[in-house]
Amino acid sequence: MRDFTRKKYIELLSTLLNSGFEFYVLEDLCGGKIKEPYIVLRHDVDRNPKNALRMAMIENSMGIKATYYFRTVKGVFDPEIIKKISSLGHEVGYHYEDLSILNGDIEEALKSFKQNVEMLRQLVPVNTVSMHGKPLSKYDNRKLIPLLNFSELGIICEPYTIVEKLNLVYLTDTGRSWNNRLVNVRDLVSATLDIKIKSTQQLINAVGKELSEMNMMLNIHPERWEDAVLPWVWNLIWQRFKNSIKYMLIKVNYGR
Ligand SMILES: [Zn+2]
Repeated sequence: MRDFTRKKYIELLSTLLNSGFEFYVLEDLCGGKIKEPYIVLRHDVDRNPKNALRMAMIENSMGIKATYYFRTVKGVFDPEIIKKISSLGHEVGYHYEDLSILNGDIEEALKSFKQNVEMLRQLVPVNTVSMHGKPLSKYDNRKLIPLLNFSELGIICEPYTIVEKLNLVYLTDTGRSWNNRLVNVRDLVSATLDIKIKSTQQLINAVGKELSEMNMMLNIHPERWEDAVLPWVWNLIWQRFKNSIKYMLIKVNYGR
């Protein structure tokens, strides 16, 4: 049976809802307005904003809100979709990659970061940002974090820095597999779970067991969840190709 379909996604959300978890966005988490056990649903919109909108509509119909981090590059920055997602009650933030786009030029990257946040703010409120992990680039966008004055910019947090301080389980669908540390070069954060979750069904099964009463952050990439067969197959082939490249990079960089 295919995994990473919208049908499976709805099943996952229903299981979480029925298990008594409260859903929060990053703004709530950073503002301390949360009740345990909680789920923070975070979406990095790396490509295909239409899939993000479909996901946002599904969540809205189930009374769930999530945080959508948008890149501002061509093909992803879609003002109408961004406004629509925000109007559905979701949080929108900036998925920044200024340092890798500007080939490591710190000064220019800081300027561009501010301009892009402002550009998004012309459309929707922006209170949190998240880093786009570019595994194939030699420039790590996280390097901007200590150089940015977040409070001056009106930004209350960056998930990368907050997750390590909280008592939560971080799960991501990066690499079309759950909780896959090995292929997750740059989106990696230290809070991980000991049990192996390889499929969404295993995650669903774990909700009432190993994961019951656990606070969680789910980082889900909307473009990977597809019902139509052709885009789904394309996604699978592309992801396998990227994973093999990432695997080689990890071997080179970390000697694993
Ligand atoms: Zn990303």
